[in-house]
Amino acid sequence: MEDMEKIMDGKALSQKIRESLKEEVAELKKELGRPPGLVVFLVGDNEASKIYVRNKAKASEEVGINSVTKHLPKETSEEELLKMIDECNRDENVDGILVQLPLPEHINETRVIETIDPSKDVDGFHPYNMGLLLEGRARLIACTPLGIMKLLEHYNVEIKGKNCVVVGRSNIVGKPTAILLMHSHGTVTICHSRTKDLPEKVADADILVAAIGKPHYIKGEWIKKGSVVIDVGITRTPDGLKGDVEFERAKERASLITPVPGGVGPMTIAMLLSNTITAARMRLERYGRYSQKNPTF
Ligand code: NDP
Repeated sequence: MEDMEKIMDGKALSQKIRESLKEEVAELKKELGRPPGLVVFLVGDNEASKIYVRNKAKASEEVGINSVTKHLPKETSEEELLKMIDECNRDENVDGILVQLPLPEHINETRVIETIDPSKDVDGFHPYNMGLLLEGRARLIACTPLGIMKLLEHYNVEIKGKNCVVVGRSNIVGKPTAILLMHSHGTVTICHSRTKDLPEKVADADILVAAIGKPHYIKGEWIKKGSVVIDVGITRTPDGLKGDVEFERAKERASLITPVPGGVGPMTIAMLLSNTITAARMRLERYGRYSQKNPTF
């Protein structure tokens, strides 16, 4: 197999998705009488967060979403932030609310996430949406896990009956990804920092999702021949952005693999746009609101 054929090109797929979202936004705009609205809160001056927020705003505007960034000083109190979120909750022109994490230490992230109206929670982190996800009924699903599922779907990767190994158990990546893979009938193993014999677990994976945050921690020789490797990790190093998987050597063994950058990252942003559109549709429909009638995953 040619090397290029093994690459799961998240950049190209996200571009394609964004083109189709542009049409959906145009349609929605007619129905809503305004463009879908997204408010992004950024507290403080974390450099990486500033870049993420800028990219999200740019991508939103490109598809026609009205995106407003509220950049607040790092001294902003929790009460002030909660009050602003609550105003957005009640604002009929706001469909989606996103609070960029991490927040400064004096602000309780859990309280902040729980304050967002679940029907506007485009990051899918609210416990209500996480609960629906567990039941297989969520409409607003965390962007990175959703992006991973879209990549697998696009590349016709069969999940049913496959050994899926997810390394990492965070609420924003590992856990929801494992649940989605399980709903798609994969046999899922979740690994974390206390897992014994990680190489052995990885070697058993038909589909591997690495979400650790340690550059090239997963060695090429651990990878099962013919498997599908999704590398979520992003670490800034002096040599540029690095994933969790030793890419060059893993590529020799995998049948499909995501690059870093250009794999999962761009899909995450596309899914944020998609979730904002879903949230706007929910506002329009005003029925049962949070849960989907026919779960896709
Ligand atoms: P967290 O730090 O919240 O979670 C990391 C997970 O990895 C934890 O569950 C931890 O285990 C596990 N872990 C750490 N060390 C090991 C180890 N040696 N062996 C096995 N497991 C280990 O990170 P996130 O989930 O938020 O993010 C993971 C990575 O993905 C980061 O690099 C992040 O930058 C990237 N990311 C990329 C996105 C994208 O769009 N591409 C979006 C979001 C994140 P334990 O629970 O036991 O501590």
